[in-house]
Amino acid sequence: MKLPWRSRPVDLHAFDPHRINVDLHCHSNLSDGVLEPELVVERAFRNGVQWLALTDHDELGGIARAQAQAERLGLGFIQGVEISVTWAGKTLHIVGLHIDSTHESIVRGLEQTRDGRVDRAREISVQLEKAGISDAFDGAMVYAGNPQLIGRSHFARLLIERKVCSDMREVFGRYLVEGKPGYVPHRWASLRDAVAWIRGSGGIAVIAHPARYKLDDLLLHTLIDEFLEAGGEGIEVVTSAHTRDEVRRFAAVARSRGLLASRGSDFHAPDESRCDLGELPPLPDSVEPIWARWGIGIAPVGAS
Ligand code: AMP
Ligand code: MN
Ligand code: MN
Ligand code: MN
Repeated sequence: MKLPWRSRPVDLHAFDPHRINVDLHCHSNLSDGVLEPELVVERAFRNGVQWLALTDHDELGGIARAQAQAERLGLGFIQGVEISVTWAGKTLHIVGLHIDSTHESIVRGLEQTRDGRVDRAREISVQLEKAGISDAFDGAMVYAGNPQLIGRSHFARLLIERKVCSDMREVFGRYLVEGKPGYVPHRWASLRDAVAWIRGSGGIAVIAHPARYKLDDLLLHTLIDEFLEAGGEGIEVVTSAHTRDEVRRFAAVARSRGLLASRGSDFHAPDESRCDLGELPPLPDSVEPIWARWGIGIAPVGAS
């Protein structure tokens, strides 16, 4: 396995993987973030992130650019992706980390997943029209750095610009979640396929922001059973979507189900995101950081 050794000396805590500032979840304007990939990396670097994964939704187009910038700055970089999945009638997100973004398995799979976003956006626009919001498709497209990846966040930004709502939380709550006028259901990849694409391209699959899905214990453990069976290995424990209690809950879940723990801000935009790049608490000592798998924090920097 090729190890992504960083070239810059790290801090005194380098041999405790829990103390390294690793951020394994964020977005550029190739999906629904607002910054160019290079600027995401620069911001992470300025915020003291030592290892970063760019995880755009269903899209790998920002990775080479982000990686080149990370190399220029001497920041550790992990190739990543966040795949939209339909499971038990819900939309889940599965993050793929340490993938080879040129591998056929993931490239082909994501091509299929991206299909249909534009049609869905047209339907969202039709629904919003009925709710009194005109020309939302064209308006949202202006916000989509990558038209193929048009999604709800782009509509949300438009509705904020038009002062229909004042922030992301309000616009999702009033217009874009299930049961609201601008919500259009969509069939994404299956859990099994998403994990297979990630594994097929050398990566590790991680359940993103698990608290967001509002699963009771039975459904959560059914999900984890299927995820493990498909070859999934990790779960986000520390993420901007989790409260302190949720961090504790999912740390316990990671331990009891033998899952590796991940940490990621899910940063999208400077004025919008709940938490900036790298500005998260460390992982609890009780869990095994996923990055230890790649030697980060447990082996001397520069060794091979
Ligand atoms: P899509 O893939 O087009 O359905 O959009 C999903 C994206 O919308 C997520 O990745 C988040 O960036 C954003 N999102 C979803 N729910 C919310 C929410 N309640 N508040 C703010 N952003 C949200
Ligand atoms: Mn997003
Ligand atoms: Mn997500
Ligand atoms: Mn995300």
